[in-house]
Amino acid sequence: MTQKYTLHTHTIGFDGKNSVQDMVNRARELGFHTIGISNHFIVHENIRKSKMYGFAVQGGYANIYSSYFCDVMDKFIPHYNELDEIQQQNPDIKILRGMEVDFFNNLNWRNGFEKSIKILKPDYIIGSTHFIEYNNTLLNSHDWANADPKTQDVLLEKYWENLKTAAESGLFTWMAHLDLPKKVHLGSEDKWAEYELRAVESIAKSNTMIEINTGLYKTDNYVPYPSDRILQMVAKHKIPVLISDDAHASNQIARHFDEAENLISKFNLTKYQR
Ligand SMILES: [Zn+2]
Ligand SMILES: [Zn+2]
Repeated sequence: MTQKYTLHTHTIGFDGKNSVQDMVNRARELGFHTIGISNHFIVHENIRKSKMYGFAVQGGYANIYSSYFCDVMDKFIPHYNELDEIQQQNPDIKILRGMEVDFFNNLNWRNGFEKSIKILKPDYIIGSTHFIEYNNTLLNSHDWANADPKTQDVLLEKYWENLKTAAESGLFTWMAHLDLPKKVHLGSEDKWAEYELRAVESIAKSNTMIEINTGLYKTDNYVPYPSDRILQMVAKHKIPVLISDDAHASNQIARHFDEAENLISKFNLTKYQR
C-alpha cells in the first residue's frame, strides 16, 4: 500500500459507526500520516419528503439530512470543534476537516453553501450526487433502480448534468464515486460513454480531482468506482486521482487500497500527492 492517508471517512453522529478517535487510532495503526473526516453535508428543503428519508429515520441516520443550512451548521460547528480538540490530543497524526457535499444546482443552494463554508473553513470538500431532483422530489439510487426505463434515461442524463455542473462550480476538491449510476445500472448503456466524457472534460477544465472509491456495494463482489472506461478518460486528461475507502467504520479504513493502486498503475493515472 503506497497511499498513506485517507480523506473520505464518516463518523458517529452522522452515518458512521465509530468515533473520530477510533478512526484516528486505526489510521495510526496503519502507519498513515493523515486522516480526513468527511461527514455528509446534505441540505435540501424537500429532503424530508424523499422516500429515502423514511428509511434513514428507521435506520437511525436521518441526522445527515437537513432541510436548511442553519440545521447543518448546528451539526458541523461542534463537529469541527471536536476535530480540532482531537487534533490537539493526537499531534502525531494530521487530522483534516473535510465534508462530503451533495451539490444542488440552484442559486439558493449555492448562496447558502458559500456562506456556510466561509464560516466552517473546511480543509477540502468532496462533491457528490446522491440525489436527483425529479418532479419536485428527490430520488436516490434505490429509487433510480426502481424507476421505469424511460424515467431511468431522464435520471441518467440529470445525474451527469448535475455532476458536470458541480465540477464547473469550482467548489469541490474532488468528485466522489463518479459513476454511481453503475451501481443500479441506470438507463440505456448507449448513452453512458457520452455523458461520462462530458463530465470528465469539465472536471479536467476546472482542476478538480477524482477518487477511486473502494467501498463495497455487494458483500462478495468488489466493484471500484469509477469504471475502467472512465479511468481511461481520466488518464488521458491527466486528472489527479486519490484512493478513497469511504469508511463508515474504522475497520473499513484502507479497504482494497492495493487493488486501487493496481488500477492506478494499469491506467497510468496521475496520483494526487500529499
Ligand atoms: Zn457518497
Ligand atoms: Zn462517503
